[in-house]
Amino acid sequence: MAPRCWRWWHWSVWPRTRPPPARSTLSFRQHFSTQEKTPQICVVGSGPAGFYTAQHLLKHHTQARVDIYEKQLVPFGLVRFGVAPDHPEVKNVINTFTQTAHSDRCAFWGNVEVGRDVTVPELREAYHAVVLSYGAEDHQALDIPGEELPGVFSARAFVGWYNGLPENQELAPDLSCDTAVILGQGNVALDVARILLTPPEHLEALLLCQRTDITKAALGVLRQSQVKTVWIVGRRGPLQVAFTIKELREMIQLPGTRPILDPEDFLGLQDRIKEMPRPRKRLTELLLQTATEKPRVEEAARLASASRAWGLRFFRSPQQVLPSPDGRRVAGIRLAVTRLEGVGEATRAVPTGDVEDLPCGLVLSSIGYKSHPIDPSVPFDLKLGVIPNMEGRVVDVPGLYCSGWVKRGPTGVIGTTMNDSFLTGQMLLQDLKAGLLPSGPRPGSVAIQALLSSRGVRPVSFSDWEKLDAEEVARGQGSGKSREKLVDPQEMLRLLGH
Ligand code: FAD
Ligand code: NAP
Repeated sequence: MAPRCWRWWHWSVWPRTRPPPARSTLSFRQHFSTQEKTPQICVVGSGPAGFYTAQHLLKHHTQARVDIYEKQLVPFGLVRFGVAPDHPEVKNVINTFTQTAHSDRCAFWGNVEVGRDVTVPELREAYHAVVLSYGAEDHQALDIPGEELPGVFSARAFVGWYNGLPENQELAPDLSCDTAVILGQGNVALDVARILLTPPEHLEALLLCQRTDITKAALGVLRQSQVKTVWIVGRRGPLQVAFTIKELREMIQLPGTRPILDPEDFLGLQDRIKEMPRPRKRLTELLLQTATEKPRVEEAARLASASRAWGLRFFRSPQQVLPSPDGRRVAGIRLAVTRLEGVGEATRAVPTGDVEDLPCGLVLSSIGYKSHPIDPSVPFDLKLGVIPNMEGRVVDVPGLYCSGWVKRGPTGVIGTTMNDSFLTGQMLLQDLKAGLLPSGPRPGSVAIQALLSSRGVRPVSFSDWEKLDAEEVARGQGSGKSREKLVDPQEMLRLLGH
């Protein structure tokens, strides 16, 4: 463990174990005097929150150095492991993150899990400020009987599987059933439904124009899929769906599939549309139109020839996963029929007492992600699943900040995450200016690298990532893809000569 006293580190460990950081061309004495004025800041997590926080700090402070620690061998968080593989344009933010990483005042240290390889107090001792941007890596449990049955997966794990997240590569979902049920009606639910239902020939077409980086293994399983119908189940009604219009439109236009919407679910909504805020209004209009209007001739022909279907089931809350007769896997889901109570944002689903059984061979629970505490020294609100904070300043812990999903909870797109990360960066710089952060030099990565080395941890640098990136792109070219993701950490380390 690290000594509590930073001076000890500085004078006895730094000069002996390691020269001043390689990126500096200054003499040790010059380096030390520069250090006096250099705020050393560390960011935990290299998703959008981590990178946007770093970007803000580097842009608005001409001397600050930022080290980004990441548990995976590769950067970019959910941009790599969450965003759907058929949405390559969303991943363009990686270009901005790469520019940030190329700054000579920024360093990426992958393969370092904070809370396991190094503690938050150790980071706080080595840096003037620490920003926690480690996202929401768990999934919200259903907490219903049968959840553990084979054939029930969290959407988080399913997404990780098709996106090449190493820990999910053994998932092996059995897609030999006819019907799948997705619980939850957010954008993740629609991503998963779209990936499940995209016809194999369409996936091939995406491949040919390099518009997907789905893994080879997932593509192989999806090509063999027998799933014909996907039900996307919500506990509330059409006015409370959490997905957005662009993603809904994509589902409606998905080749080879047709939507199943029950017009009865939409009765009376037409009259309420006028008073809705614009995004909700447009979304509801599209739902209504799809459910109730007769399609034009061409569209009708397309729908008639569709071999796959997806449907929205409203006012149904998951109550129990039903086992097959031999008890070995899922055979259906029991849903409690609900009605709404309350108004506006406070509208809640309450059970009516009726239930409905929906047969299916696959259940994907898409009811949200969840953050967890990574260090006992950091306050954590277990109920809300966030680090308690005021505009990014961790409550009662000076010098500690947070951004992204661990700050706000697991909702919001990359743009939302960018804004809140910029705000956290702004608060940190205000505190620095006001003299609220520790004064005097801090060793930053020099001390942490010594610690990690003593623990046998070998971090991966951004240039290491660029070697892996080049390898992925080269492997993808063989099969017409934008990249073939490396999914085995051991292989990645071998390629890097670690
Ligand atoms: P993350 O992106 O999760 O980044 C957190 C990082 O911290 C990860 O790299 C993680 O490995 C690392 N980490 C975790 N624990 C530790 C630790 N102990 N030590 C070190 N590092 C750690 N938004 C859009 O705008 N468009 C989309 O198409 C879109 N698609 C999405 C698809 C899915 C399936 C999901 C779940 C979200 C999607 N989003 C999309 C939302 C977007 O991904 C989030 O807004 C954003 O990623 C949140 O950023 P973050 O940095 O807080 O979390
Ligand atoms: P989400 O948007 O919060 O949706 C979660 C869904 O699960 C809601 O329908 C919610 O219903 C339901 N739910 C929650 N708890 C439940 C329970 N106990 N029982 C039954 N249903 C329950 O979460 P998400 O889909 O995981 O998405 C996370 C964020 O990433 C969102 O902000 C999303 O927009 C973003 N994202 C964006 C894109 C994109 O831009 N293309 C793609 C993927 C994700 P209630 O409303 O009733 O709680």
